[in-house]
Amino acid sequence: MVVDFRNEPFTDFSKEENRRAFEEALETVRAQLGREYDLIIGGERIRTEEKIRSINPSNVDETIGYVSKANQELAEKAMQAAAKKFEEWKAVSPEARARILFRAAAILRRKKHEFSAWMVHEAGKSWPEADADTAEAIDFMEFYGREMIRLSERQPLTRIPGEDNELYYIPLGVGVVIPPWNFPLAIMVGMTTASLVAGNTVVLKPASNTSVIAAKFMEILQDAGLPDGVVNYVPGPGVEVGEYLVKHPLTRFIAFTGSRDVGLRINELAAKTVPGQKWIKRVIAEMGGKDSIIVDKDADLDLAAQTIVTSAFGFSGQKCSACSRAIVLEDVYDEVLNKVVAKTKQLKVAEAKSFGIDMGPVIDENAYRKILDYIEIGKKEGRLMTGGGKAEGNGYFIQPTIFADVSPDARIAQEEIFGPVLAFIKAKDFDDALRIANNTEYGLTGSVISRNRANLEKARTEFHVGNLYFNRKCTGALVGVHPFGGFNMSGTDSKAGGYDYLLLFTQAKLVSEVF
Ligand code: NAD
Repeated sequence: MVVDFRNEPFTDFSKEENRRAFEEALETVRAQLGREYDLIIGGERIRTEEKIRSINPSNVDETIGYVSKANQELAEKAMQAAAKKFEEWKAVSPEARARILFRAAAILRRKKHEFSAWMVHEAGKSWPEADADTAEAIDFMEFYGREMIRLSERQPLTRIPGEDNELYYIPLGVGVVIPPWNFPLAIMVGMTTASLVAGNTVVLKPASNTSVIAAKFMEILQDAGLPDGVVNYVPGPGVEVGEYLVKHPLTRFIAFTGSRDVGLRINELAAKTVPGQKWIKRVIAEMGGKDSIIVDKDADLDLAAQTIVTSAFGFSGQKCSACSRAIVLEDVYDEVLNKVVAKTKQLKVAEAKSFGIDMGPVIDENAYRKILDYIEIGKKEGRLMTGGGKAEGNGYFIQPTIFADVSPDARIAQEEIFGPVLAFIKAKDFDDALRIANNTEYGLTGSVISRNRANLEKARTEFHVGNLYFNRKCTGALVGVHPFGGFNMSGTDSKAGGYDYLLLFTQAKLVSEVF
């Protein structure tokens, strides 16, 4: 009997012993920088000539590691290995599969700070952001392990006399898992372990920017006793390797998290039946966001300001759930704007060598240029209140930037920037605020800061996002507590960390026997 699921607690960095332990982990990781990582296909380690160089976005001269780079030939090999292994793995009992997740969670818990330290180096996360990412990865494994056990129990059916009826959730086949770099551990672990605990085998193509942390996780799966070939690790370019895998006739499903454009492309490719394909491919896609916080006129304005700053600038705004639009009622607009600007000016932007850094860099050169371009667009579309350009450092540092008086239809109010850029939009009344909040093609997260009961009830039904929060930030969903995923162009309406998520990785088989 497995004990009930509990979320992994976050580390309290106000305690000196915790800070010291984290510093030691940073040193441990530092001593391992620059190593080489192989592809893993059917348990075989393969070293390629061509490598992905993963760098530290806080210090671009520092190499995190060199990762072997797959091509289409190696992607084919991985697909064959996964398809072959599926025939065995699908017969392993759900409990035995779940136990591998519980063991992997235990190993990760013991190495928690080390994994977080890898993310400080490879993704430029602050300590608390990295700690939360690792905690979420542990949660996903504990949660999905329990979920698989629950799904393997006798399922409720209407009984009729004379027949024995049973419903089984059986696996699908080979899944292609394509995660983003922004939750390099949690999302990659979540999609990979949901797939495998449900009895599928996996070809994992990690995001190139964070392929080292994925390689470290492969070590954990191996230590946890996962048989060779269940998860095959094939880092490589999205277009070359990712598309090859998506189009492959043996691919049964694709679990993707990333941008809207790539998600739509994958959906389109997966919909096209290719010779030798025997099924309709399932696409589970979690995509971008353009998330809003509405501030009502009788809100706690200090709470509103803190909520907006945390949601907009945590991890430099590089969360699909990040607030990029503050929609504030005109009665309190100036006051909220001034409070948010004042708090934003106090944020410390630097490499997270120590605790207390609020914001690190953005992930890479492309993101850096794209965000700086959006800031230039913003200078034409709004009134620059703070920030507005690069920040100091030998990395991709950008100042937290706020534009006021932005029109709801402006580009910076509509397009996902995925950086530390926040647009303030003035609303005439609460209905107007809701209209503005709903006027994007996305529908991922949103918050309402209000003391008005009737307005909160109205938002509850009319604010069309997958994760709606009242009087709190719009980021930081917890596994099991806030099942996560959005509507419209934010994805296929799935809920990671929720009680219906694993069903997406299975198919239900009914067996009826007359006795
Ligand atoms: P991305 O779409 O650029 O890349 C995601 C993954 O897709 C990477 O592994 C990449 O290599 C791969 N890829 C790229 N082109 C491909 C192709 N043509 N075929 C197959 N695979 C391909 O996204 P990103 O920059 O890594 O991540 C940021 C995006 O992810 C943002 O839009 C963010 O909102 C979104 N996101 C969404 C959620 C969610 O839960 N909804 C969570 C995190 C991130």
